[in-house]
Amino acid sequence: MYDYDLLVVGSANADLVIGVERRPAAGETVLGGDLAVHPGGKGANQAVAAGRLGARTALLARVGDDGHGRLLLDSLRAAGVDTAGVLVGGAPTGVALITVDPSGDNSIVVSPGANFRLVPADVRAAVPLLHASRVVSAQLEIPLETVVEVVRNLAPGSRFVLNPSPPRPLPAEVLAACDPLIVNEHEARVILGDACASEDPADWARLLLAAGPRSVVVTLGAEGALVCDGSGVRRVPPVTVDAVDTTGAGDAFTAALAWRLGAGDAPAEAAACAARVGAAAVTKRGAQESYPTAAEVGL
Ligand code: ADP
Repeated sequence: MYDYDLLVVGSANADLVIGVERRPAAGETVLGGDLAVHPGGKGANQAVAAGRLGARTALLARVGDDGHGRLLLDSLRAAGVDTAGVLVGGAPTGVALITVDPSGDNSIVVSPGANFRLVPADVRAAVPLLHASRVVSAQLEIPLETVVEVVRNLAPGSRFVLNPSPPRPLPAEVLAACDPLIVNEHEARVILGDACASEDPADWARLLLAAGPRSVVVTLGAEGALVCDGSGVRRVPPVTVDAVDTTGAGDAFTAALAWRLGAGDAPAEAAACAARVGAAAVTKRGAQESYPTAAEVGL
C-alpha cells in the first residue's frame, strides 16, 4: 500500500571539519590541518541510516545548486535513498563549519542556507510523497512552520516521529502528532523547561507524555533509552560497545526506530533494535560513514 517505509523531512548539511591545535580567540588566526568535508545534517543522516538498513526511504529536503549539494545527493543515492523530493536551489547548501582541537572539544558555526528555504509550500507540493509513506520523521533544523505543515498533511493511518533537535518549545498540534517524540537529555530539559525539576529520566518521559505525544522515547547515550506510552515506562538496556565517535548516533537510532515501528514492532522491541543501530554507529568515526547495514547488526 505504501511506496516508502520512511519519508524523512529535514536538513542536509555539508560538515566542513578542520583539526586545530587550539581554537582561535576573537581576532585571532590559527593554522589547522587539511579540510575534511562530510555529508551531514539530521535529515540526511536519518535518511542514509534508514536506507543503509534496507528501509524503502525518501527524503524531502532542500540543498543548493553547488558542490556540497551534489556531495549530499551522492551520499543519499549510495545508501539507496530516493532523492526525487530533494529540492535544489534558492540558497547555498547548509554548512557546518567545525574546528576541533586535540582534546575533541569543538566550535561550530552553522549556516542553515537552503534548509531554511524548505517552506510550507514545499510540503504542500510534496503531499503525494507524504501520502505514499508509512512513517514520516522530522527534526528541527528546518523552519518550525514547515514541520507544522507536515503534521497537517499526514495521511490518515501514517505515523509521525519527531526528534526536536535543536530543541525549542513545540506547538500542541505538533506534540499531539508525535508517536513517538524522541529526545535526548538536553532536548528533554529544554522542552520541559521549568517543569523539569526531577533528575530522573523516567519522570521526564512521563511529563513529556502528559504534554500530548502518543508516546515518548528518551535516549540516554551509553545508558540505553526509555520508552513511555499509556502502559508506562520501560527501560531499553544499552548495547555495550567501545565508543569511538558518537556523532550522528541519535539520528541512526531515530531512523531505525521509525523503520521498525512502521514494520509493526512493539515500541520496546523497536527501541531495542534502534539501540543496536545507535551502538554500531558509535563504533566508527563520522556520522553517515558509520551507519550499519541490517545484516551488520543482526536485523
Ligand atoms: P544524541 O546523539 O541525540 O545525543 P544519544 O547520545 O542518547 O543521542 O544516543 C542515541 C542512542 O544511541 C542511545 O539511546 C543508544 O542506544 C545509542 N548510543 C549512543 N552512545 C552510545 C554508547 N556510547 N554506547 C552504546 N550505545 C550508544
